[in-house]
Amino acid sequence: MEKKLSLLSDWIIESSSLVIFSGAGMSTESGLPDFRSSKGLWKNTDPRKLASVEALNNNTKNFYDFYKMRINALNEVKPHEGHFILAEWENKNIVKHIITQNVDGFHKRAGSKFVSELHGSLGICRCNECAVEYPSDKLIEKDFPTCEKCSGKLRPGVVLFGEMLPADALEKADFESANSDLFIVIGSSLEVSPANYFPVQAKKSGAKLVIVNLESTHLDHIADMVIPGKTKEVLKELDNQISLRTTKE
Ligand code: NAD
Ligand code: ZN
Repeated sequence: MEKKLSLLSDWIIESSSLVIFSGAGMSTESGLPDFRSSKGLWKNTDPRKLASVEALNNNTKNFYDFYKMRINALNEVKPHEGHFILAEWENKNIVKHIITQNVDGFHKRAGSKFVSELHGSLGICRCNECAVEYPSDKLIEKDFPTCEKCSGKLRPGVVLFGEMLPADALEKADFESANSDLFIVIGSSLEVSPANYFPVQAKKSGAKLVIVNLESTHLDHIADMVIPGKTKEVLKELDNQISLRTTKE
């Protein structure tokens, strides 16, 4: 592990277009469960079934309860050191772009600016009819929250299963993946498509691909390096090594 992190620090220092791709495993150390661990915790229902257009229309009470639980949970946690390290790396021109599947908004809260939120954000909600946006507090105020303008149903500002991903975030992520020379996946099972296409895109375009994840993924075989470690520890160690080397020079 030490040798790998030392080599990866070299790759990061040498890189001129480092792209980070983060998933739910980026935020578990902030106390937010990933889908894997939250399975079974939610009334024995797969959260993927609740995070859907189908549930918004036909299982509305459970849909709202699920999102109220997630918005409330988000109000009680905060980004961890790993998120702040990535934001600092952006400031130091070490990281060029972050592509995230996370809807917790933690990268932006920690100060990263160049972030493509592929699945939207829980920080806002909007009217399902007229698309007017509100802060997410509005979604947790009532049992069945509605739009002030048109009385349409409110819904979280995230992409639900069965919906298209936001075109602007997709385009940006596509561009940054194709132009990266080092692409690091952090805390993603890489099971969700089309998001999991970006690591493949980066690799095809000539980037080195690194996967940092507690469990193995189906893209491990095309990766140049696989680190079976914890997000926060790995980022802290990399940050130490990078600081040591860049101050020596
Ligand atoms: P996932 O739950 O499918 O996979 C997370 C991966 O992270 C797992 O393989 C797990 O082993 C690994 N992991 C957990 N803790 C880790 C840690 N501390 N260090 C390193 N690895 C760790 O998550 P995904 O690939 O992001 O896809 C799931 C979907 O879930 C996405 O669509 C995402 O929008 C949504 N989601 C988001 C959040 C969030 O915003 N924080 C939370 C849950 C689910
Ligand atoms: Zn409306």
